[in-house]
Amino acid sequence: MKRDALLDLYRRSGALLDGHFRLTSGLHSPGYLQCALVLQHPQHAEALGRAVADLAREMRPTVVLSPALGGIVIGHEVARALGVRAIFAERQDGGLTLRRGFIIGETDRVLVVEDVLTTGGSTRETIQVARAAGGRVVGAASIVNRGRDVELGVPYVSLVQIDLPTYEPDTCPLCAQGMPVVKPGSRPVAT
Ligand code: ZN
Repeated sequence: MKRDALLDLYRRSGALLDGHFRLTSGLHSPGYLQCALVLQHPQHAEALGRAVADLAREMRPTVVLSPALGGIVIGHEVARALGVRAIFAERQDGGLTLRRGFIIGETDRVLVVEDVLTTGGSTRETIQVARAAGGRVVGAASIVNRGRDVELGVPYVSLVQIDLPTYEPDTCPLCAQGMPVVKPGSRPVAT
């Protein structure tokens, strides 16, 4: 999937908005990204899963591991395209852990899959879950890479890099222009 086609798909799904947003973190940004709005359409999820799988196939994973909740849908689709299992780690008492009887064996080659990588924090945490369970992590993959020079210690692939700057409200150039700030999802935004 080409970058332009992917960005167009995200914009058409309302998953990538241009404007002036107040993020959950309190920071302001000229863009808003919400992968779930693309992945709610099963045909798009399947196509994105195939595209990520094509990038990761040579890592020869035997299982896909995703952090809940954001990684589950795309992880499932990547696993479907690769013909391997899809399992997920979920947060319990603050840390990510394997539950529900999911097992990673010593011979397993684990591919960690997420919807979007920003700081790499949850990806690194998921890698640790796989290693602690005895698996070998052969790589990580996401649809969108929002990070810059994120070091994971394993090979990493993504479909598209999207840089969305964030600003402290005090120094936000959009605020300085007098542009109204909106909370994502609070109303439709014309682009
Ligand atoms: Zn602002």
